Amino acid sequence: MRLTRMLLREILSPLNVSITEATTADEALGLIKKKLFNLIYMDIEMPGTDGIEATKIIRKTLNFSYVPIIIMTAKASDETIEQSFAAGASDYINKPLHEAEVLARTRAILEKSSVEKALVAAMQIAEKANNAKSQFMSSISHELRTPLNSIMGFSQLLASDPTQPLSAEQQENIDYVIKGGEYLLNLINEILDLAKIESGNTEFVLGSVALDDLLTHCVQMVMTQANDRKISIQQVKSGHTITADSKRSTQILLNLLSNAIKYNVEGGSILLGSDLMANGMIRITVTDSGLGISPDMQSELFEPFNRLGAEKTDTTGTGLGLVIVKSLVEAMGGQIGVDSELNQGSTFWVELEQASFHDGAGAIRS
Ligand code: ADP
Repeated sequence: MRLTRMLLREILSPLNVSITEATTADEALGLIKKKLFNLIYMDIEMPGTDGIEATKIIRKTLNFSYVPIIIMTAKASDETIEQSFAAGASDYINKPLHEAEVLARTRAILEKSSVEKALVAAMQIAEKANNAKSQFMSSISHELRTPLNSIMGFSQLLASDPTQPLSAEQQENIDYVIKGGEYLLNLINEILDLAKIESGNTEFVLGSVALDDLLTHCVQMVMTQANDRKISIQQVKSGHTITADSKRSTQILLNLLSNAIKYNVEGGSILLGSDLMANGMIRITVTDSGLGISPDMQSELFEPFNRLGAEKTDTTGTGLGLVIVKSLVEAMGGQIGVDSELNQGSTFWVELEQASFHDGAGAIRS
């Protein structure tokens, strides 16, 4: 025992690590409660509580799952090895100890734990930065919205004041101001919405939503937009009920429907349907006969501000709609995807949970 500890200390000396020794398992358990260790070498054969029992206590009773434990044994039978791992040992090493083996294993474990620590720290920093970014976006958007609202308000007043009618040229100019303002206001609202969802400040009120009614309602809301482009919308009724936040589901479907109109061909068509999938989810599909998306562009969908080339066309947009839709769907435990072929059309699908008969209302935060 003493010899093993002396030998270990000597072998580990080139690593320049601080070493604490305990003569019994009980002494070791006392030390572990008071101090954090990166690695424990545990002899199986000890007076009183043996190494396997002590390992179990560390893992279960003290609930220390992070600290690696290497069991040292002179009798490495299959049974002892099994018992060691069952007790929670990370590894075992045979006695007499071999310098190269001890050094290699110790180095590997210490490196792994420092990499893990660095990863955790990096993740915490990234999370903090992301929260700060969402907070920043949220406050800047609020600051922008107020003056923009007055720009819009006064522009509309100028454009429609019957007592002081504008000249044709002035009217054209003010229309540009109003159009630009509308675009900015929409962009700010979308940034605010996204920042709110990302920071976890969006509350979802979950309940049973009758899908046919939801889809009919959304179709009514986009009818003018569809008529303008002579696009027909067909809805296949299914009788399905989903568990979702009805306001947010409306927002998701309006977004997909609006895209199916915007990126459709003049006089095209849209088909709305739903299916019960093998995984128990309801898949809602929005199929259009529009421009379609090439396979390499599909990998860039759902990226913030990425309009996949639509920015070079007259179709207005911010490139945030699908990002918001994806965050909303995922916050409600669902999934989103697309099947599309260039110049043939696209099917955007969203899977949400099917409502059971017992579903009441509930709330979650994103
Ligand atoms: P926006 O419409 O504001 O540009 P979205 O995030 O809704 O932003 O969509 C991102 C991009 O994906 C669009 O700019 C467009 O290029 C493409 N897209 C979205 N929906 C469709 C669709 N139904 N058919 C073809 N392309 C689409």
